[in-house]
Amino acid sequence: MFDNLSDRLGNVFDRLRGRGALSEQDVRDAMREVRVALLEADVALPVVRRFIDAVTEKAIGTEVLKSVTPGQQVVKIVNDELVEMLGGEEVEGLTLEAKPPVVIMMVGLQGSGKTTTTAKLGKLLKERHGKKALMASLDVNRPAAQEQLAVLGEQVSVATLPIVAGQQPVDIARRAMESAKLQSADVLLLDTAGRLHVDEALMAEMKAVAGVSTPTEVLLVVDSLTGQDAVNVARSFTEEVPLTGVVLTRMDGDARGGAALSMRHVTGKPIKFAGTGEKLDAIEAFDPKRVAGRILG
Ligand code: GDP
Repeated sequence: MFDNLSDRLGNVFDRLRGRGALSEQDVRDAMREVRVALLEADVALPVVRRFIDAVTEKAIGTEVLKSVTPGQQVVKIVNDELVEMLGGEEVEGLTLEAKPPVVIMMVGLQGSGKTTTTAKLGKLLKERHGKKALMASLDVNRPAAQEQLAVLGEQVSVATLPIVAGQQPVDIARRAMESAKLQSADVLLLDTAGRLHVDEALMAEMKAVAGVSTPTEVLLVVDSLTGQDAVNVARSFTEEVPLTGVVLTRMDGDARGGAALSMRHVTGKPIKFAGTGEKLDAIEAFDPKRVAGRILG
């Protein structure tokens, strides 16, 4: 992930750092190269524009150009803007303070990694937060989706709602709420159904499920390998359901980085977690500073 972007930026910055003095034109030339590198990494155009404008404006200030290490200063400005672009200094965790059961609703397209991420979060909540979780699959579309969650639940020793054949998502959500209360679960994870594409039926279902479960968190799971598509999917969901955050899966793959870098600006929602593998402990809190550090090497 980010390998190509990282190499390209590294080359630009090595050249900048290698110079004693920098002119305004040097900065503008470097920013032109950064712009191309970001676009090639599949970062959304408005996000690239904003980034380049912000960096250029700060970097051509006299204090930077007249400083002893202007190249170094420009790289620092880029780093700070990258952190901003990825969501800022804070690592955004889950809100778990609400009255139990705290409902976390997982949404996203089929194949994005939603069910896997649900199980990863169940495990993380149990092991790192000491929370008792119940997981329920509302996916009546994909054959065996409910069984898949039951199998993963067993693997991570987190309870899953027993499957009742033929029940519809809203009814499953209601039953899950009841069951979570009866079991005194701290957290209820609702793994909703995906679709191949965003469509009206999917959005209506998400709204109906949110209506009966009043989730504290609505997490959109998107596949970082799908680049700009991931961002478009996120935009569609943001318009329809009250998302509280995004989980980017397959960050272990060779995605060019566009999804990660555009997501915050396009959706206005924080990236809360990164999926980093198929194993059920392969999930990390998304830390903008660390990710920016990785990009800049
Ligand atoms: P769903 O249809 O959205 O519920 O997707 P699944 O949870 O079934 O995931 C689809 C596939 O992606 C499975 O083979 C998962 O093991 C895999 N997967 C999910 N998250 C990640 C991740 O972060 N990294 C990798 N490498 N694979 C993942």
